[in-house]
Formats: sequence, structure tokens, C-alpha cells
Amino acid sequence: MNKKNVVTKLEDCNVFVQTNINISEYTSFKIGGNVDYLVRPKSFTDFACAVNIANDENINYYIIGNGSNMLISDNGYRGMIILTSDLNEIALINENLIECYAGVTVANLCKFAFANSLSGLEFAWGIPGSVGGGVYMNAGAYGGEFKDVIKSCNYINEEGKLTEISISAMDMSYRHSFFSDKKLLILSVVFEMIKADKSTIKEKMDDFLTRRKTKQPLDFPSCGSTFKRPINGYASALIEECGLKGFRIGGAEVSTKHSGFIINVDNATCKDVLALVEHVKSVVLEKKGIELECEVKTLGL
Ligand SMILES: Cc1cc2nc3c(=O)[nH]c(=O)nc-3n(C[C@H](O)[C@H](O)[C@H](O)COP(=O)(O)OP(=O)(O)OC[C@H]3O[C@@H](n4cnc5c(N)ncnc54)[C@H](O)[C@@H]3O)c2cc1C
Repeated sequence: MNKKNVVTKLEDCNVFVQTNINISEYTSFKIGGNVDYLVRPKSFTDFACAVNIANDENINYYIIGNGSNMLISDNGYRGMIILTSDLNEIALINENLIECYAGVTVANLCKFAFANSLSGLEFAWGIPGSVGGGVYMNAGAYGGEFKDVIKSCNYINEEGKLTEISISAMDMSYRHSFFSDKKLLILSVVFEMIKADKSTIKEKMDDFLTRRKTKQPLDFPSCGSTFKRPINGYASALIEECGLKGFRIGGAEVSTKHSGFIINVDNATCKDVLALVEHVKSVVLEKKGIELECEVKTLGL
């Protein structure tokens, strides 16, 4: 089927769709070529409709939250990107439970928790992702992880049915969850928090944000830490000890402020970043005997 007909089918379902869209603006790396279809479901029904059409038409699809952990090919993606940003409702369901759709930004979730005097998510203040991405990645910082505050999740299973999963079944570990490497939509999440004094919550949030601003190169596009933390060490320390701080390929550079970050300093391409990732990995392996693993998700390669 040609693109026009696919668009008509999506529009008939009231799903917002754009074609031939440059995806770089939707990623924090500011990298990536054109994608065939970009759709933004506003509800479970919209999502199910988009997925059914993609399946019927043999179109690949991929879910993106805030794109803050995505490296997308310079050639883009032949298929449908499903952006969750319009799935963005958030509510207090009792005095210490927050229910939130996957497209809510972590920043808005943290603000909402603070406004309701709920503690537990202070660690996440400054993580630039969405709630769905945070769950998928089990995002974490400063001793906290998403797994510590999740009670349950609603997701859409392989048969397209809405399914509830509790935290005990979510197989959460360092940057890993039940959802890792699966193509399931995390639709909503319930967070279980603890009542606390607003000033104590704010103090922690301010402290964590200050630490980020001091240590991280936030004025350049990036995906945060490029590599996972190896056992018994830190990727940034290993990279620095190997003399790679500031090493550059094309427009991609190992940050001089935080060597765990690869940053886009000058119109970097996906090819530049991948070449730099490979270079860093091979030097660290050769000099330190440690194999670094990429934390960033790639698409369209
Ligand atoms: C400056 C900076 C600092 C960062 N600091 C941290 C940090 O301290 N700790 C940390 O853990 N990470 C950090 N990150 C990385 C990133 O913010 C996290 O991994 C975040 O959780 C990704 O969320 P996202 O919505 O942007 O996901 P995306 O990048 O959009 O997607 C990441 C993965 O999640 C999947 N996904 C997203 N939403 C859904 C959904 N609703 N259903 C199913 N799958 C989904 C995607 O398919 C993809 O595989 C940082 C990034 C930057 C740029």
C-alpha cells in the first residue's frame, strides 16, 4: 500500500500522523534522518489502531518517549515511529499513589510529586526522559532507580490487550526491565510514594540538580551516559584513564566535562557517534581489559 493510503487509514482512526519527518528534533542527541511515519496516539485506542495498521501493512514500528536515550541512523527509519508524548495525563489516586501515563515527562512527574508532598522520586529530577522510557530503562541516579517507586504498570501485550503487571514481575535491574528488547507499549504506571515535608523534598531535588549541572555537559546534545556502568568501576573513569577525554570523531566528542558522555559538538552524524563509541570501546578493552556496553538504544542501523 502506498503512503497516502496508510495515512488515510490512520486519519480515519483519528490518529495524528505526519510523513517523511526528520526525527533528529525528537531526540536529545539531535541526530537522525527521516522516518516514513510519525504518529502520536492520544489513547490506548489510537495506539492499538496504529499498531494494527502497521501490522496489516507490514510496516515496522518503534516506540519513542522523549528520545533522550536514542541514537537514530542518519538514513532515518523505514517504518512508523510511535511517539508517546500525547499520552500525558497524571493524577493522584490516593494520598500516596500517583497514576501517570507513559508520555508524561519525568520532570512533570517530579513536579507533581513535589506539589503533593510525595517523596521517592527526587533522584529522577533532571533525568530528561518520559515515564515510559524511565520504566523501560529502569532509569536511575544518585542511589535511586525507577524500580524503587513503581507499584505496577499497564502495558499492551503481544495480542493487543491491556495488561497489568506488578513490580514484583517486572524483572527490574540496572538499566533493565521486563520490557527491555520487547516491542510492548507501556501505557501507564502507578508510583507508590511516601508523604514528606516539601522543604525536605525540595532540598534533595535542588542538591541532585546542582550536582548534574556541575558535572554534566548539559549545554551540548547527548544521551547522557553513553555506556553502562561496568562491574566494579565507572565507565567515565576508565575512559579518562585511557586518555580519551576530548577525543573527537567528526562532530562527536568524548566530553571534557564528563568523559562518560559522548556529546554532539558540531552537527555530529550517527556515523560519527558510532565510530567514536567503537573507538572508545576498543581502547578501553585494550588498555584496561574491560568491555564497555552501550546504554544508548540504536534504531535504523
Ligand atoms: C543529559 C542527560 C542526562 C541523563 N541522565 C540520566 C540519568 O541520570 N539516569 C538514567 O538512567 N538515564 C539518564 N539519561 C538517559 C535517558 O534520559 C533515560 O534513559 C530515560 O529514561 C529515557 O527516557 P525516554 O522517554 O527519553 O526514552 P527514549 O529515549 O524515547 O527510549 C528509550 C527506550 O525506551 C523505550 N520506550 C520509551 N517509552 C516507551 C513506552 N511508553 N513503552 C515501551 N517502550 C518505551 C524505547 O522504545 C527505547 O527502547 C540521561 C540523558 C540525557 C540526555
